[in-house]
Amino acid sequence: MPTFLNDSPVFGPVQSRRLGISLGINLMPATGKICSFNCAYCENGLNEQRRTSNDYVSLDELEHALKKKLASMAANGTQPDVLTFAGNGEPTASPIFAQAVDLVRALRTVYAPAARISVLSNGMFADKPSVFHALMQVDDNILKLDTVDATYIELLNKPQGPYDVNERITTYASFHGHIKIQTIFVSGKLAGVSADNTGEVYVNPWLDALEKIDPQQVFIYTIAREVPIPTLTKVAPAILDGIAQRVRKRGLPVVVSY
Ligand code: SF4
Repeated sequence: MPTFLNDSPVFGPVQSRRLGISLGINLMPATGKICSFNCAYCENGLNEQRRTSNDYVSLDELEHALKKKLASMAANGTQPDVLTFAGNGEPTASPIFAQAVDLVRALRTVYAPAARISVLSNGMFADKPSVFHALMQVDDNILKLDTVDATYIELLNKPQGPYDVNERITTYASFHGHIKIQTIFVSGKLAGVSADNTGEVYVNPWLDALEKIDPQQVFIYTIAREVPIPTLTKVAPAILDGIAQRVRKRGLPVVVSY
């Protein structure tokens, strides 16, 4: 499957590998991607391939679309397991992110009281007070940490502004356990150099960072669909299992997706 964009402001529901029946909330426009990272594995494509002149969705647009979708699901006797902030880029970069969390919490109470609220974020703005507070209000605060190696972050994630991984680790630890970490492991090449982050030089410092952060859960996964840079390849299940075992030995729960 080629890279794709999601509908906006609501997409799905889709069966998520990690989250169950997930109704997606996309604060970015449907016409392109807006992200503070530019990951080589992004299923939405590279930023430069997905430029858009449209803006983030408004709170009114989100309220209208989400009410309509939840009401139609309820009328069909279905409920989402989770309402997931994700979509075409970085949800916490939206100027209405905090209000959107409040709105989704209110609509969940009315239409889908059993559903969890999740945020999938690259964590770049997690220390901004309004974002931090909003992330504390959701059930699953799932933040990215693919590596703690600054050079590798520039190669794989390409932050689109200043990014200090040690500051990220400190911010992540300040959630005092109200955080889940997602990490992708990949192999192959990027820009002519190895892109493999499964070696000891990457895994051991990453495990040390996890211990400092002390998350509720760690998600590790690999490439599952087509990615924008085809020299990037997936990691074998046995390697992921070996890394997961080492996470467990550090006393942390881990879920693996192949
Ligand atoms: S943080 Fe997520 S949306 Fe942004 S480039 Fe990376 S994978 Fe894509």
